[in-house]
Amino acid sequence: MIKVAVIGGGLSGTLTAMRLLEHIGERVSVTLVERKTRQLQRGVAYSARLSQQLLNVPAGNMSLFAEKPNDFLEWLHAGPMPAAVPSDLVSRNLFGDYVSDRFHATIEQNPRRLSVLHGEVVGLDQHPAHGYRLRFDDDRIITADVVVLALGNAPPAHIKGLDPNARKHPAYIPWPWQEGVLGRIQPDDDVVFIGMGLTMVDLLFSLKDAGHRGAITVLSRSGRVSLPHALGHVWTLRQPLPSAPYAVADLLRWVRTEARSAQEAGVPWQAVMDAVKPHVQDWWMGMPLEERQRFLRNARPLWEIHRHRMPTQVHQRLQQAMASGSVRNLAARVAKITVDDDRLRIACRERGSGKAIDVWAKHLINCTGPQTDARRLDQPLLVDMLAMGFVSWDPLHMGIRTEPSGALVDASGRASENLFAIGPLCKPTLWECTAVPEIRRQANALAELIAVRRPQLQSKGWRQVLAQLTDRFAFIDA
Ligand SMILES: Cc1cc2nc3c(=O)[nH]c(=O)nc-3n(C[C@H](O)[C@H](O)[C@H](O)COP(=O)(O)OP(=O)(O)OC[C@H]3O[C@@H](n4cnc5c(N)ncnc54)[C@H](O)[C@@H]3O)c2cc1C
Repeated sequence: MIKVAVIGGGLSGTLTAMRLLEHIGERVSVTLVERKTRQLQRGVAYSARLSQQLLNVPAGNMSLFAEKPNDFLEWLHAGPMPAAVPSDLVSRNLFGDYVSDRFHATIEQNPRRLSVLHGEVVGLDQHPAHGYRLRFDDDRIITADVVVLALGNAPPAHIKGLDPNARKHPAYIPWPWQEGVLGRIQPDDDVVFIGMGLTMVDLLFSLKDAGHRGAITVLSRSGRVSLPHALGHVWTLRQPLPSAPYAVADLLRWVRTEARSAQEAGVPWQAVMDAVKPHVQDWWMGMPLEERQRFLRNARPLWEIHRHRMPTQVHQRLQQAMASGSVRNLAARVAKITVDDDRLRIACRERGSGKAIDVWAKHLINCTGPQTDARRLDQPLLVDMLAMGFVSWDPLHMGIRTEPSGALVDASGRASENLFAIGPLCKPTLWECTAVPEIRRQANALAELIAVRRPQLQSKGWRQVLAQLTDRFAFIDA
């Protein structure tokens, strides 16, 4: 019997647990750990609070199982949406219901093989007799032969220029998905969002739909918002794919040429982005380090607004709100954020003109996206694992180093045989790994890998494996 602990009960962790039960069945026992009860099986994206908000991937591409591509559509047809079509963008909450249904069906087929624990894992070490020991924030300890980290995205970094007093002020909302964020905002309060991604759009319209009337400012360096979907079009790539090692300029030129060909054929550029997406992991992995740096420095913002698109009707609504002045779109660089009584004063410089502008916020919501500098991360588990040498930062300090399989790379550069990551944590290695189509591939491949290696990983073989590792880890408490 092999014991697997999956830390993080969002989509990545839930699907990994399901796939492990399917692949290893009677010979595995899985413990799924989640610190926030309401996020179990749903994670941040599909939890109940977001009931009005839509998926940004069409229903036809949201099946949990690559081998059953219509599974989500069939679930919709059998239940809440008998007339759903593949291009529908349905509610995220509904998708959470689907994941939960499929998860419970898997448990029923594999009784007593899975347990769910509530709590936060804050540390990990090794023990000769018990494999890995996982420490909880309330001092509980569990053991496992294999550990999968499915921790999701890191919280955003604090905004540059934020005064230490402003950081502690109740007007500052550092984590946009924090429970009860919108409930704190009164209808006439002035709200400023910093960051213009899909999270901002979600929260902005949730506020508007709840009857908010106060001033809303959306502030970002570029002033650019994500572009709309154009669903129902398919494009087959025409030119031969560029070959490795990849240069950012060549790749972008290649994509633009494809987009021009598509447009000449009456197909929107969005279909080209969809056709390109399956190649992005290979491109990223085949880019020399300096090209990755070049992409992050110069191309990332434009890439993101083309890649992470929003439903057409939401995009139109946003454009109308900005045109009518009900939402102010301010392209500016923040210089300083200070406390001004019960509000925050945001001093910034307008893009282009350089004009100094002050904006006041009763609520300032940080929507700048996940922290991209791993050195500033304050997730206790990762900090502990770094100190213990189980993980190391990737060379660009975007996050932790993993193999393409998800295996963690330790401080000495060696890939682990029994510690893995899945989902957004793998971004430094894979780049394209945060949406359902990539997560379902990763979860399946990881479960297959663990199934194949099971005989060596089982508790019985542990002492031999540990004997080889003892030299490497002086901290083992024998
Ligand atoms: C608002 C939003 C909308 C999205 N919409 C779509 C979409 O329409 N289509 C799509 O394909 N993708 C979408 N995504 C991408 C989304 O990230 C993935 O689809 C997927 O939900 C990621 O799941 P995850 O489990 O990796 O991360 P998360 O959902 O973040 O789950 C990670 C879980 O781990 C838990 N956790 C973290 N650390 C610990 C610890 N130490 N101990 C215990 N528990 C811990 C957290 O509490 C959390 O519940 C969206 C993302 C967001 C944020």
